[in-house]
Amino acid sequence: MEEKEAFDKYKNFSEWFRTIIMDAELVDTRYPVKGCYVWRPYGFKLRKYVLDIIRRLLNNTGHEEVLFPLLIPEDILGLEKEHIKGFEGEVYWVTHGGLRRLEKKLALRPTSETAMYSMFKKWVHSHADLPIKVYQIVNIFRYETKATKPLIRVREVTTFKEAHTVHATMEEAEKQVKEAVEVYSKFFNELGIPYIICRRPNFDKFAGAEYSIAFDTLMPDGRTMQIGTVHNLGQNFAKAFELTYEDINGKHQFAYQTCYGISERVIAAIVAIHGDNRGAIFLPSIAPIQVVIVPIIYKGEEEKVLQQCRKVLNALKQEGIRTFLDERDISPGRKFYDWEFRGVPVRIEIGPKDVANNQVTIVRRDTFERKTYSMEDLTTVIKEIFTEIEENLRKRAWEEFRKRIFRVKNLQEAKEIIQNRRGIALIPWCESDECGLKMCEEVDGDVLGVVLSEDLVNLAENEVCPICGKETKKMAAIAKTY
Ligand SMILES: [Zn+2]
Repeated sequence: MEEKEAFDKYKNFSEWFRTIIMDAELVDTRYPVKGCYVWRPYGFKLRKYVLDIIRRLLNNTGHEEVLFPLLIPEDILGLEKEHIKGFEGEVYWVTHGGLRRLEKKLALRPTSETAMYSMFKKWVHSHADLPIKVYQIVNIFRYETKATKPLIRVREVTTFKEAHTVHATMEEAEKQVKEAVEVYSKFFNELGIPYIICRRPNFDKFAGAEYSIAFDTLMPDGRTMQIGTVHNLGQNFAKAFELTYEDINGKHQFAYQTCYGISERVIAAIVAIHGDNRGAIFLPSIAPIQVVIVPIIYKGEEEKVLQQCRKVLNALKQEGIRTFLDERDISPGRKFYDWEFRGVPVRIEIGPKDVANNQVTIVRRDTFERKTYSMEDLTTVIKEIFTEIEENLRKRAWEEFRKRIFRVKNLQEAKEIIQNRRGIALIPWCESDECGLKMCEEVDGDVLGVVLSEDLVNLAENEVCPICGKETKKMAAIAKTY
């Protein structure tokens, strides 16, 4: 019973989250290397359907998928000075091949700018070779020194989607940043993950970038989690890597670059945001199993019921609906509990009465609404229910998110919100590093940056930065972060 009490999304988020990812068999955290974990079949399917969405969005906007090696030579990793400074404390090194010491140490990629740009240099000659827009979905390694947390803070990021682009002009790079923000917005919208978009403070931008834009969502414990970033690299890497192109006049110019990434934190957000105290809830679009059929069996009527169940199973499968018929020899109640916990969005119950009336009983995971439907047009009905569930989950998540964003008048109010883990505080800010760092200190939280989300920016004229008193129309988002 004690365990049951701990399973509460808002009162004990950490324990709730760990229980779901382990017991719903998404991942196994017991692998004997700290910060590394195993994707189990059910979790791997969820991951695949999520990745299908981002692949579709990237492919539709002219990105092409590539695959670069995991190993990066030491000298190449160190070419861009700011970049290596940002990562040197986190790099894993390969020093031996078998028993022999390697002449050149090899890094396990912490990210792939340097791996890719050393090759882009060989691919780009003239302006006609531009733009380059590629991405890969790979694992990366970072020696995290903070406490690791499965899917959220790990040492092997197993699902790192990194896109990298090369352009002839800064304008085109800026346009690319906008496109990337749009692609990620669509991605998170499809998944029903609410977000705030901010331009990160200078002291928190990506190592080697001109500036960074980030997507943060809010976890049930009141802390924000960065789920996506977009960086304008300007010419910083192009200069370090001598990535040049010949322009129309035959002159050599340094290229402009952008990069943007997401990781399995997206899956952590899906679990955390949509789930409830009965377990995970997955949107039908990404659910490993979309419909589970549970036979309600009475003595003497087994065969009739099972026959009908199989008929429904086949009909749904034929329509491409991921359906599972649970024929285990345990009580229907146990089955309900299991599949609710594992987040299956739709349950179909079929008992002798349903067979007699040529109907099924459908229960929605998101609302527990229970209704009977005729067998006719069942697949159409189910697809409609899928749409309703998706809309409801998205709406619910955004409503919850908006409730936890507070426009505050002063730093005391911001501090109260952050210390009590109520959510995100919005406050005017002049955007200087100095004032940003001071605000972090005063409220004991983190400045996420200048808010770019249009629906959240509605500052009146003549607001002032609470630290320096300078007039500003910009607003900072402040929170406790993961
Ligand atoms: Zn200021």
